Amino acid sequence: TSPVIEVRRLRKWYPVRRSMLSSLLGVGEQRYLRAVDDVSFAVHPGEVLGLAGESGCGKSTTGMTVLKLHAPSGGEILFDGADLATLTGRGPLRDFRRNAQIVFQNPYEALNPRFTVLRSVLEPISIHFPDRRTEYEALARLAMERAGLLPAENFMHRYPHEMSGGQLQRVAIARAIAVEPRFLVADEPVSMLDVSIRAGILNLLKSFAETLNMGILFISHDLSTMRHICTRIAVMYLGRIVEIGPTDQILDDPRHPYSQALVAAAPVMRRGTRRRIHLEGAVPNPANLPSGCRFHPRCPKAIDRCRTDDPQLHAAGERREAACHLVA
Ligand code: SF4
Ligand code: MG
Repeated sequence: TSPVIEVRRLRKWYPVRRSMLSSLLGVGEQRYLRAVDDVSFAVHPGEVLGLAGESGCGKSTTGMTVLKLHAPSGGEILFDGADLATLTGRGPLRDFRRNAQIVFQNPYEALNPRFTVLRSVLEPISIHFPDRRTEYEALARLAMERAGLLPAENFMHRYPHEMSGGQLQRVAIARAIAVEPRFLVADEPVSMLDVSIRAGILNLLKSFAETLNMGILFISHDLSTMRHICTRIAVMYLGRIVEIGPTDQILDDPRHPYSQALVAAAPVMRRGTRRRIHLEGAVPNPANLPSGCRFHPRCPKAIDRCRTDDPQLHAAGERREAACHLVA
């Protein structure tokens, strides 16, 4: 199948304010914080692609930029094979807006506290399906039931303060799926919820991929969660994807030194006696990237070449890619 969403060399750079002195003197180059820096991937219908990495590596910015909630600084976004930049007129862009939805980490912030659940779920439906007025309530009910708010009548007339965090996240999910999107970004959708209710929400998202054939970009820093839900995993470091491949291969046999460190640091991931790899130092400032491989100051395997040559993603086995000079 062809991807529902594909990004090619996607960029989101933020200009960094120059110092007073260099502005006055008119010297020094404009610098950029490269939050997303030439990121390429595809999400197919029915697939959950995980985006893994430490906080601040650009995962959320990638999710927002793919949806054009942040304007990209460069690169291409293709929906159903069509480059969004070449689509003209309101119709195709509205079609993209309806088909590409997001669920955020914090359901308390995502919902209007003064709206009943029904009103919250009706809102996107009325925006995107203006011609289906007679079906509004049925569509809202269906979305709530698909999101596990059963029976819908018991929840429709409640306000956010009358519900638990897990129920609210299901309302946010109902809102996102009510307009029948083909692509969903889920940005840490369970990390604020009680551990006891996480599996239910994750299974729900997984079922959307399996039964509704949705493509999902699942953003998380928690690899054990990702093993449960993801078809493939992309590991990000400082705005770049450093490794991408099938979930089992990335988690059981990571090949990029950063993926290896990330997997080794996740306690439940360790199987047998995998040697723990320690990362040196802190994550560098993305406004002031290291030369060559941006992981080299922390990489236990760095060689001379790593200080000067920036490794690109390349095939590293069947269906997987890595950006490291030592991975062939
Ligand atoms: Fe480490 Fe060099 Fe590979 Fe970068 S390219 S991950 S510094 S070995
Ligand atoms: Mg984030």
